[in-house]
Amino acid sequence: MSGPNTSFDPKQVAALDGAAIDAMVEDATAAIAAASDLAELKGVRLAHAGDRSPLALANREIGALPPAAKAEAGKRVGQARGAIKQSLDSRQAELEAERDTRVLIEETVDVTLPVDRDPLGGRHPLTTLMERVADVFVSMGYDVVEGPEVEAEWVNFDALNIPPDHPARTMQDTFFVSSSDSGVVLRTHTSPIQIRTMLDRDPPIYVIAPGRVYRTDELDATHTPVFHQVEALAVDKGITMGDLRGTIDHFAEAMFGEGIRTRMRPSYFPFTEPSAEVDLQCFVCRGESVGDPDNPCRTCGSEGWIEWGGCGMVNPRVLQAVGIDPEVYRGFAFGMGVERTLMFRNGVSDMRDMVEGDVRFSLAFGLEA
Ligand SMILES: [Zn+2]
Repeated sequence: MSGPNTSFDPKQVAALDGAAIDAMVEDATAAIAAASDLAELKGVRLAHAGDRSPLALANREIGALPPAAKAEAGKRVGQARGAIKQSLDSRQAELEAERDTRVLIEETVDVTLPVDRDPLGGRHPLTTLMERVADVFVSMGYDVVEGPEVEAEWVNFDALNIPPDHPARTMQDTFFVSSSDSGVVLRTHTSPIQIRTMLDRDPPIYVIAPGRVYRTDELDATHTPVFHQVEALAVDKGITMGDLRGTIDHFAEAMFGEGIRTRMRPSYFPFTEPSAEVDLQCFVCRGESVGDPDNPCRTCGSEGWIEWGGCGMVNPRVLQAVGIDPEVYRGFAFGMGVERTLMFRNGVSDMRDMVEGDVRFSLAFGLEA
């Protein structure tokens, strides 16, 4: 070579000598090791491997070197950058592993802790059963109707052909509001809803009336002073007992399963004529326990049948009382105790469980919406 190389500035390329590059790598390695978390390491990466890092600036200077020096300087800078990148990557992996371990520990869930300290209550099974009954009848075109629980004595008794001297009207059975001559009672059955409906509407009438009723019974395993009935009423031209029977059979199957049978036994109610008790074939043994002492049935007491409710053709005197011509219209009515139905259906043996409000009872029926 002859003459000075004017483009070679020894000051400018000082950064590219071996010692300077090594110093940059040492600086970077120390900073990487000192980074105690991922955020710090990100800052270190920017300072020592970013576009403005000493090595990046040194790399730019390679272009200014004479061709002979370029290769060696390039190699040195490349190796330095590779070393720093490796340190960064391995520290990154270390810090990520530390973070993951810490998160696992900090976010550990103790699966043995009680998970729900504020449990939602279940809906009361009597409520859901009454809704289910209503659904069965609504699907046949019936309307759901309701009435007041504090009822006029005339509606609760007289209009239903229960005269003043009838034993049902004594203080032993009926809660009178204020005094026994107040003319106001807590309704003793859902039948007054029939009266209100017939006073309100013209036939044809097809209604289902679920509701709470009151009798002066003591609370025990099979009685409660407040209980629920569900009552159906149909008034139309040409209604027969066959319609009544078919409707009850359909209802029984909807409640207790396909093929379940019912039977009627002659009975007496003032508001129906003729009247009958409705028995349900035992849905547990289906009557097979009768006369078989080896296989007794607890549900029906090996009788094969269970008393379920009452029914009959609406007494013409009731129709007259509400202004419906019994020469033109006839009707049927039947009613069942909802508690009794729930006891059969779900094997509840003690009525007190239904009224005591223990959430463990309702929860056993599931959280029905
Ligand atoms: Zn049985």
